[in-house]
Amino acid sequence: MSLQENRPHKDLIVSVAVPVPLRQTFDFLVPKSLLDPPMSDSPGGEVNVAARTRVKVSFANRTLIGVIVEVKTESDFPLSRLKPIVELFRDPPLFDDALWNSLLWLSRYYLAPIGEVLESALPVSLRKGNELTPSSERVWRLSEHGRSSAVDELNRAPLQLAIVRRFMKQSTLSSKEFKQESGNWHSPVKSLVDKGWLEEFTQEPILLGSDICEKSSVTLTNEQSVATEALTDLMNAEEFSCSLLHGVTGSGKTEVYFDIIGKTLAKGKTVLVLVPEIGLTPQLLERIQRRFEQPMTVLHSGLNDTERHTAWWHASQGHAKIVLGTRSAVFTQIPKLGLIVVDEEHDGSFKQQDSVRYQARDLAVYRAKQANVPIVLGSATPSMETYANAKAGRYLHLRLTKRASDVALPKIELFDLNTQPVIDGLCPAMTEAVEHTLSTGKQVMLFLNRRGYAPVHYCGECKQAAKCHRCDSNLTVHQRANRLRCHHCGYEGRLLNDCRSCHTKDSMLEVGDGTQRVESALATRFPEARVQRIDRDNTQRKGALTAVLEKARNSEVDIILGTQLITKGHDFPNVGMVGILECDHGLYSTDYRATETLFQQVLQVSGRAGRRQDVGRVYIQSRFPEHPFFDYIKQHDFDGFADNLLAERKSVGFPPFGYFALLRAESTHQAKALQFLRRAKSDCGQQDGVIVMDAVPAPMERKAGRFRAQLLFMSSQRSSLNAMLSNWLHYIATDKEAKKAASSVRWNLDIDPLDHY
Ligand code: ADP
Ligand code: ZN
Repeated sequence: MSLQENRPHKDLIVSVAVPVPLRQTFDFLVPKSLLDPPMSDSPGGEVNVAARTRVKVSFANRTLIGVIVEVKTESDFPLSRLKPIVELFRDPPLFDDALWNSLLWLSRYYLAPIGEVLESALPVSLRKGNELTPSSERVWRLSEHGRSSAVDELNRAPLQLAIVRRFMKQSTLSSKEFKQESGNWHSPVKSLVDKGWLEEFTQEPILLGSDICEKSSVTLTNEQSVATEALTDLMNAEEFSCSLLHGVTGSGKTEVYFDIIGKTLAKGKTVLVLVPEIGLTPQLLERIQRRFEQPMTVLHSGLNDTERHTAWWHASQGHAKIVLGTRSAVFTQIPKLGLIVVDEEHDGSFKQQDSVRYQARDLAVYRAKQANVPIVLGSATPSMETYANAKAGRYLHLRLTKRASDVALPKIELFDLNTQPVIDGLCPAMTEAVEHTLSTGKQVMLFLNRRGYAPVHYCGECKQAAKCHRCDSNLTVHQRANRLRCHHCGYEGRLLNDCRSCHTKDSMLEVGDGTQRVESALATRFPEARVQRIDRDNTQRKGALTAVLEKARNSEVDIILGTQLITKGHDFPNVGMVGILECDHGLYSTDYRATETLFQQVLQVSGRAGRRQDVGRVYIQSRFPEHPFFDYIKQHDFDGFADNLLAERKSVGFPPFGYFALLRAESTHQAKALQFLRRAKSDCGQQDGVIVMDAVPAPMERKAGRFRAQLLFMSSQRSSLNAMLSNWLHYIATDKEAKKAASSVRWNLDIDPLDHY
């Protein structure tokens, strides 16, 4: 293996990826003093420095923890100029070949600094330099050598001697027990390990897992059987394959995942399951735990550093057979990986929108290819990228067209807002439908993707809206708190009585409907009904979302009113009708992805209706009921919609037929961001097949007091686009003037951007 090099005689050099925004690695010298004593497990006591392990270095006057990318004996720099590393972490390599190659690819493809990529791939606790094994898990015992040696050999090391004596009374000691009894145990224990007196081992991990292994109680439908058979064949082929499991809401995709997960586990392999941020519910966890007897571990953003470290460690040690997690779980080292599943693959939360801007679904596909294992992408409303890949035959297209429970898909009807008024969010026909549904004992679910009370606070005299003084946006009224809030920068202030523009007294009106306003109107109109609002404002506390979803699921509420938080794969068995209160602005948005997202949201939320017994009803309020969009919606015709959209995108060379990159810049000076981008455009020059648009202000130009601008790159070839941008990045890293310009603004580069703001 080329990972480890044993060259005791020559100077050892390591190239290190340091967590800084620079697109290169840095060479350091490994001082001889650090190689002594040699790593205890190194054969023949030789020096052992391994790539893909952590190292402490001093960089620009800071001590940083980086990852060794390569061990070598020569450098492009004279040895005298190389700084020595500060500390070697004697970890085994942290990434296997497949994951390592995927991370290198990610850095190249997204043009992200390798140091930052590797930093995101490790739990915070390891980035801070903590031991690889989480401290709660570390246990030591005397080794064979320790047991057979005479203790007086340690007479000159009283702390070590005391520790060895303790082991004579108690055969194993954990870090927890050491901490309780003595302060200074860490370094003597380490010395004893290095000398071979003690050995560290791990106790059986305590993981989520269950011994109630529930056999599937369902008989697979025909469509499910066809899908599972196809996936079984792919799994038996023991090579890379990518399948789209395209099944309408309620078609039982989960049963299909479970079947193939079970078969993979039976072969002694591990499974990685990725889900969207809000798709990771206790419900899903419980379902998996009950189904598989195997230990599993869960990684999501709600974990603290220690929990995350422990979860990562269980995965990387192979203790966990199922690794379930959100976006960044795709970075987890997993031995014997046999299958990757990405549920709700179209979900926007798989795209990281800051620091390293990557698409976890795409990385998962690349990783599966590297690991030579099958990957299954599942959705009722696939992304255009995935759907196009399936249509083109690059992915196997598995379809579930019918609901598993024999209940037909809901009937979708439109209410024309040109012929009836909207009062507090609902038109009379919608109110009537709610009334009717409640009278049959069913739940009502209302979807309104706008939180707060009223989205506009404006003056009845001069018609000016209250604006955020730091953003180009209106302030939203939040009535509970009696505050005005900016949803873009978080600004909060008192409600106004008097207009700030024309100074008229008591002229301010609250206009438009947010979830809070509709909630209070519903309470007045349906006094008997229990109304539950679900939006970001009342679910931020840890566990709060889970609690309200659970209430809704258990029919402890009658009307569920929520934002897109309710559209995701949650199963509400008793929902009889879904009302969509607003969707028009998605039809005429400047964002080319808006209709795709709207279609996904409307079909997903509609899918919550009538999942058991009776056919559900869906009602949509719109001023544009004749819009062709609604013909597809009414027919549940995803293919028709997608084919049409893809044809449009193809004709203009938009993704997935062309490739976009967005260079964003922001500055407190209005002109600076634009100037930087204009300069970038000219520095990029010309490249065949790449079109560079003009630098323009962002759709919301001012946010949190900063002026934002953007430069869009379009290309029919990924490689040309990548080449142009990496040349430019190299240029601004090396040319003095360009470097200066680039450091005068905040900027970031987004490859395959999801939103254009
Ligand atoms: P999806 O994720 O495709 O929307 P789910 O996997 O949540 O759908 O399944 C929807 C419902 O159908 C669940 O309650 C599930 O238990 C049930 N179900 C799945 N497969 C079958 C089957 N073969 N027979 C009966 N019920 C099934
Ligand atoms: Zn603001």
